[in-house]
Amino acid sequence: MHARLHRRSVLTGFAALALAGSARGAAAQAGPYSLPPLPYAADANEPHIDARTMEIHHGKHHQAYVTNLNAALKDQGELAKLPLEQLLAGLDKVPESVRTAIRNNGGGHANHSMFWQVMGGKGGEPAGEVAAAIERDLGGFAKLKTDFNGAGARVFGSGWVFVTVDRDGKLALTARPNQDTPLMEGKRVLFGNDVWEHAYYLKYQNRRPDYLAAWWNVVDWSRIAERYAAAKAGTLTI
Ligand code: MN
Repeated sequence: MHARLHRRSVLTGFAALALAGSARGAAAQAGPYSLPPLPYAADANEPHIDARTMEIHHGKHHQAYVTNLNAALKDQGELAKLPLEQLLAGLDKVPESVRTAIRNNGGGHANHSMFWQVMGGKGGEPAGEVAAAIERDLGGFAKLKTDFNGAGARVFGSGWVFVTVDRDGKLALTARPNQDTPLMEGKRVLFGNDVWEHAYYLKYQNRRPDYLAAWWNVVDWSRIAERYAAAKAGTLTI
């Protein structure tokens, strides 16, 4: 209970931090997007994901997606005012000169913002409605893990593996290359794992399957349950 309350206050405090950041560094942060702080300490996912990987992944890689997304939107007027999920669902309306930059960096910002949220937990098994949906749509938790890890291992080069959720709560497993996301097809992501080498190389080197297997130990099923309820309510964004 205390852990949940603490986490809530951290997430709520993020908006205030983001505002303070934009007031302090308007030049460094020209643009609509800012890096969300990690909702836990960098070592919260040890030993499965090491603190140094988290620091570089969040502070350097995710920051670069945010910086480059803001740069791509600099002269884009109304596009820069869209919520991220709407920007990504309407890439065909984005001028060709910045479309690839917005696809890669907007996708990167959305994917990583989701990714931090669904970790920081203790793994274990899903419960309640999420467990029932996994049983119904994905053949149960054991099969999901096997299929998800297999899909992640088969991504050639860099990409992501996701479980999507629709307004009826129906789940599906899917993978995407690079920083693409099902948000680009107007879908919603329940959770996903980053299989870019930068997500695991310091600790796992070339052993992506070991990283995929270990990742389940840090999943936060209570947070995923919140995302599932939000998806069914139509309020889940990224
Ligand atoms: Mn990444």
